Amino acid sequence: MPSTHTELTKRHRAVLPDWLALYYDEPIDIDRGAGRHVWDAEGNRYLDFFGGILTTITAHALPEVTAAVSAQAGKILHTSTLYLNRPMIELAERIAGLSGIEDPRVFFTTSGTEANDTALLLATGYRASNQVLALRNSYHGRSFSALAVTGNRSWSPTSLSPVQTAYVHGSRRRGTPLADLADEEFTAACVSDLEDVLGQLHGNVACMIAEPIQGVGGFATPPDGLFARFKEVLDRHGILWISDEVQTGWGRTGEHFWGWQAHDANGKPDIVTFAKGVGNGLSVGGVVARAEIMNSIGAQSLSTFGGSPVTAAGALANLDYLIGHDLPGNAARVGAVLRKQLDAALGRIPAVVDVRGKGLMIGVELAHADGTAAPEIAAEVLEESRRHGLLLGKGGLEGNVLRIAPPLSLTESEAREGGRILLAALEKAGQR
Ligand code: PMP
Repeated sequence: MPSTHTELTKRHRAVLPDWLALYYDEPIDIDRGAGRHVWDAEGNRYLDFFGGILTTITAHALPEVTAAVSAQAGKILHTSTLYLNRPMIELAERIAGLSGIEDPRVFFTTSGTEANDTALLLATGYRASNQVLALRNSYHGRSFSALAVTGNRSWSPTSLSPVQTAYVHGSRRRGTPLADLADEEFTAACVSDLEDVLGQLHGNVACMIAEPIQGVGGFATPPDGLFARFKEVLDRHGILWISDEVQTGWGRTGEHFWGWQAHDANGKPDIVTFAKGVGNGLSVGGVVARAEIMNSIGAQSLSTFGGSPVTAAGALANLDYLIGHDLPGNAARVGAVLRKQLDAALGRIPAVVDVRGKGLMIGVELAHADGTAAPEIAAEVLEESRRHGLLLGKGGLEGNVLRIAPPLSLTESEAREGGRILLAALEKAGQR
């Protein structure tokens, strides 16, 4: 069943950097997609439970998106922020309306990294400070500045930090000192840690950047309300809160359109960054901020490809479909079905030590009997699931968390089918 494609793998290794890790012993040569499925070049079909790291948020090769992209590309294949273009303005209006930010202004980029970079530029400019807070284990992108606020140092090739970064407890990863605390105690400990960190810093702090649920960090899910409590502390110091919604946005978490909304209206961010799902595979990212923040910096250069009419037209069609078909609601319903199935593994399969997340963003953490992380079991579950036609993600600081994030149009029967394959793989590999 697995496609070998040794020739393509060899060519990949010869021309791309060594540090670009591929999934699977025999990497997949991905060829086409439809709905919740993808096919490799040899014709093998896979149920996709990772959607290209949460990019495919509605469905693969959604005809509505393809048609909108083709129609726009047929009119003009051009991008420039020097002129008006209707799809960009319409997309900005749509996102501004959905953002929950007051008096919103939108700036388009082509990636989450660049969106976060821009948000940091805005916050540090607005606050006239280069001090930035970030959470432990966080991931915010691969540029110099995004890595400087990435707590997960395993991703950072440099120890250079252009901004002073302090980390506050914010994740619930097992093995961390706070893991065994009840929600209220956990929240209180995080808040007092934030206060301690702030107490140790001198001068203004510009902002705190955080993911409502840590993606690369292994779908680490803080208790509801935590960020509202953080915000109370931040507000006392005038510190801005940037919610990195690159993974948690667009209804991924089921109950809410944005991840921050699990922390109630008091947890409303000053700046939201987005990417991934909005384009359903197209390169669209951006920042929403209150006008006073967005407009606080002087003349800026453009992001040449940001707001391209072609990708904006595709994103608009994607959002029409997502909202028109209530996919966030579907994520809540079908996510609950899948979650129930996977929760049953807790206590039954020894290596499964935690099942967590919200909506269709579910993490399964794997450990050995002595509590140490079990990345090799995660790797084996990935291979075994692939052999049975299911694609998964993995993550966590030690690579021991399975990440499940299918397109939000997942049906109940697909959820059950994927859940069955995954449980069987866990049964096989997870007896430790
Ligand atoms: N923020 C988060 C939370 C992410 O997960 C990622 C990518 N995995 C990024 C930012 C960076 O986005 P991009 O890869 O589009 O630059």
